[in-house]
Amino acid sequence: MNNQLSDRINSLPISETLAMAAKARELKAQGKDIISLSLGEPDFNTPDFIKEAAIQAIHDNYSTYSPVDGYLDLKEAICRKFKRDNNLVYQPNQVVVSTGAKQSIANIAMVLLNPGDEVLLPAPYWVSYSAISILVEATYKEIPSTIETDFKITPEQLEAAITPKTKMIFFNSPNNPSGTVYSEAEYRALAKVLEKYPNIYVLSDEIYEHINYGEPIFSFAAIENMYDRTITVNGVAKAFAMTGWRIGYIGAPDWIAKACNKVQGQITSGANSIAQRATIAALNAPVSKIQYMVDEFKKRRDMVLELLGAIDGFKLNIPGGAFYVFPDISAFFGKEIKGHKIETADNFSMFLLEEANIATVTGDAFGAPNCIRISYAASEDQLREAIKRIKDALS
Ligand code: GLU
Repeated sequence: MNNQLSDRINSLPISETLAMAAKARELKAQGKDIISLSLGEPDFNTPDFIKEAAIQAIHDNYSTYSPVDGYLDLKEAICRKFKRDNNLVYQPNQVVVSTGAKQSIANIAMVLLNPGDEVLLPAPYWVSYSAISILVEATYKEIPSTIETDFKITPEQLEAAITPKTKMIFFNSPNNPSGTVYSEAEYRALAKVLEKYPNIYVLSDEIYEHINYGEPIFSFAAIENMYDRTITVNGVAKAFAMTGWRIGYIGAPDWIAKACNKVQGQITSGANSIAQRATIAALNAPVSKIQYMVDEFKKRRDMVLELLGAIDGFKLNIPGGAFYVFPDISAFFGKEIKGHKIETADNFSMFLLEEANIATVTGDAFGAPNCIRISYAASEDQLREAIKRIKDALS
């Protein structure tokens, strides 16, 4: 039968992060001893106090539709969180709760982008930014960076990338996949360029804000004249080990929030009611309650950097946040190792899967063709074993 799918879906790439995770699961089911460092997902359990809030919500019969944009007391908790952690003042009518930060981002793309609008993606960027742009028939332009500059773009690069069609730019700090954290001064320098272009909106994805090993992160919307055109995206998946609960949210100008509410009302209704109630407990708790996970991630980051740094051909930066390392492995390009020709990051990632039973994600998926992403959201033993296997496969 002919391909009856829409052009939109035919041109949509699959999510490489989820595809690699699925492949690792499939190989494991076949009995292969795969260590999956592909998915960005905390290996901790959701903290008990959050689980208990969810159980209580079930007993309290939170089993009907919630308001489309989220329960009012959850939106109030989100506003308090924005003030406490980000020095951002949002009112509940500026907040929309969604089925994961991914839906929040898709909502924003749907309500702000027209076909042909241009989106700027400082690379490396998370796989779904480009895919969601394609889905709404916008085009995207990468602003490249390299490991030498800690994967940061400069104001000059930003200025050069802007065209009359530019409608939106995505910032993501701490960054997935590089772990890069932009300082306040760096963000202010980029904002100086954007000041001149009042029609450009900023999507600031801050989902990794608490997985951060230095100063508290700086929120782009905290720049005075950027607040009115910035959408701050966040969620509970990463900081609270709640990936499966699927709760994301935005703080935005009220007309944008209203439009997201409208779109969500037609495609998903409100997010899961029980997960919303649990999120209130998560956001009301002091951030110190999750520090044990952050401390553990930092320990693992340091260990992974040390062990990978000892392998010839792995060029590393020191990621300030998130739970990924993103080595430049282009030194292997043009080589043949154990019968595998390595020409691309994709080849290298497949080589690691086939020869070392280690699942990673190719940098091609993130607009960084010299790199691969390794998630260290895995146990210390698994990480040690994985890096030993990588080393053995390469020797
Ligand atoms: N955000 C995580 C990752 O990059 C989860 C998978 C996904 O949604 O892409 O691995």
